Amino acid sequence: MALESLKEVARKIAGSSSIDKKFVEEMVKEIQRALIKADVNVRQVKEISDAIKKRALSEDVLPALNAKEQILKIVYEELLRGVGEGLEIPLKKAKIMLVGLQGSGKTTTTAKMAKYFKDRGMKVAVVAADTWRPAAYEQLRQLAEEYGITFYGEKGEKDAVKIVKNALEKLKDHDMIIIDTAGRHALEDELIDEMIKIAEVARPDYKLLVLDAAIGQLASKQAQAFHEAIGINGIIITKFDGTAKGGGALSAARQIGIPIAFIGTGEKVEDFERFDPAGFVSRLLGMGDIKALMEKIERIASEEELDPEAFLKGTFTLKDIYKQIEAMNKMGPVRKIFEMLPFGLGLKVDNDVMEMTQEKMKKFRVIMDSMTEEELLNPKIIDSSRIRRIAIGSGTSPQEVKELLNYYKTMKNLMKKMKKNKLPIKGLGKLG
Ligand code: GDP
Repeated sequence: MALESLKEVARKIAGSSSIDKKFVEEMVKEIQRALIKADVNVRQVKEISDAIKKRALSEDVLPALNAKEQILKIVYEELLRGVGEGLEIPLKKAKIMLVGLQGSGKTTTTAKMAKYFKDRGMKVAVVAADTWRPAAYEQLRQLAEEYGITFYGEKGEKDAVKIVKNALEKLKDHDMIIIDTAGRHALEDELIDEMIKIAEVARPDYKLLVLDAAIGQLASKQAQAFHEAIGINGIIITKFDGTAKGGGALSAARQIGIPIAFIGTGEKVEDFERFDPAGFVSRLLGMGDIKALMEKIERIASEEELDPEAFLKGTFTLKDIYKQIEAMNKMGPVRKIFEMLPFGLGLKVDNDVMEMTQEKMKKFRVIMDSMTEEELLNPKIIDSSRIRRIAIGSGTSPQEVKELLNYYKTMKNLMKKMKKNKLPIKGLGKLG
């Protein structure tokens, strides 16, 4: 994705031998290119890059920083200014209504958001009020069931307003009620009418627009139109994972002055995060998002009954690694974890470690069952003849045993580095 190249810019700054005017000009051009490619609005690109250039060439280096750190700080701060604001929805009783065009990801997002709040201790219900796309009912029902979330819907009922009215009657004892509404291919009068009527009945605390990141610069017009029609107070950007144009939606939020609440980063219900501008920009620059990572670790650790301290320290023998691997795996693909670390902590990671699947985890468990106590406690002693024995004993291949050892080593290194970097470091990593 285009914004990815900002990481390259940050790496160049960190690796530069001297910072002079030529370096700054070249760097600003690269930032411009990255932002334009990402569909950020041209005027905003100019504002951001002008500000960076001006400050980089005029400001004195702060006593606590060296020149490179100072430049990185300026780039960080100006990108942060350029990114839309974050909307934090507090853990309180609330009704949330999602609106957006068909296919923007409303139904998926309804389930994602419900799980997000349920994980944080809220009693959540979802309401299927998208009567325009009949399949939405079943889609939401299934997702809700899978994640233990209360579902309300009326199969076959065409009147969305009536569904919402009934739902609110039934769901009074819930903390949060998230309403999935209908979309259309375009913002038609009929849709506007329905949205207004639902909003009148539901009196939502939040009207959130679901915006597909893939539409790039068109996001601005779309967001503006929805805002004019029903007045939105937050934006959720979906499909941020699959597009180079995500800057367009970010830009749109900034242009119309509506804060961003969440971003969707994949098809799975877990691929969803609160939009924290500082963490977001840190990650764009490869500086990591330690805050988000720590939150994740703590949440998963509590689910798994792990002690987060112990999890991070990781006395890390193979014997106790299994639960930890499982917990790591729950946090998402290893790649996403690395993105949250400042410059990935400089660790190189093989692809097969990045892509850990449930199936592989099962295999790992079988392999570990074939190891001796001594091997589990001190994996270093596992040489090639032991690898062969373990492979035969577990009905796997030496290659697979090596893969487990490789995974273990990567994780051990990761834990060591995290400890050495004295996590948690706030958002900015070294500069914080
Ligand atoms: P709706 O018509 O607005 O309710 O849209 P859906 O919730 O059915 O989503 C449309 C498609 O987008 C589905 O295939 C979803 O899996 C996909 N989708 C939704 N959010 C994301 C996301 O954040 N990332 C990716 N890659 N796909 C998403």
